[in-house]
Amino acid sequence: MARTNFRYLALPLLAAALLGGCGGGGSSADVRPGESAPPPVAPAPHSFLLFPNPQQQPDGSLQMNTQEYADAYYRAIDPLNERDTLAKYKAKNGFETGSGTEHNVIFGDRRDLGYGRRMYARSNSHPPGRAPPQIRVFVLYHDPSFSQSVPHSVGLQKGLVGVVHAFAERSATRANNVVIAHEILHTLGATDKYDLASLAPLYPIGYAQPDRQPLYPQSLTEIMAGRYAVDAHTFEMPASLSEVRVGEATALEIRWIKPK
Ligand SMILES: [Zn+2]
Repeated sequence: MARTNFRYLALPLLAAALLGGCGGGGSSADVRPGESAPPPVAPAPHSFLLFPNPQQQPDGSLQMNTQEYADAYYRAIDPLNERDTLAKYKAKNGFETGSGTEHNVIFGDRRDLGYGRRMYARSNSHPPGRAPPQIRVFVLYHDPSFSQSVPHSVGLQKGLVGVVHAFAERSATRANNVVIAHEILHTLGATDKYDLASLAPLYPIGYAQPDRQPLYPQSLTEIMAGRYAVDAHTFEMPASLSEVRVGEATALEIRWIKPK
């Protein structure tokens, strides 16, 4: 399979705040085993692989349906052209080397893209002497020149898995790490500690310094609140993990500490 076959498979960009509403997944469109699946939704004409929500340009064209968009995507995810053919992709990611574990799954997907897929997955052997990894977080990097915002990130306790939407930009690395840490803690049972409507950190559990006098401005962020309060009505995102703390409520949820 050549690179063009991968094209347009990823990145339905939605206008959304970085941490907004990432409460551990579970949407009304989820399909669970035993339930009858909703009928597949047919994409609009000429938008195959571009739905469910391609962003429309001012001239009416679809943002993702351009060579420029595809080129920017590959510049972001594969700047050195190390994975521009299926053979190179497999070699780069250790497929068919005889090491690790490989799985091949075939399934129908009626909700997302509306067709079946055959997927190959691989997990590397973990280094000897180190505990095997149990939490998996997938980070999808978006080109910031195309979008000022990215879809909601999600961390699921069931399955210990998270999906983080991040910006493919060196200057965003430290802020991306905050989102990744937030979603990792969701997989361990931590709940969001901000108001879903206003994004305000909840007092006191969403404050890293709830006892501070005076209370404002806070200078540290509770990791599951995602933002710190500059004053009662202004909330900012931390620049890096060094400005983030795990509050008592979150520590209890992930069992770092025991109830008093
Ligand atoms: Zn969250």
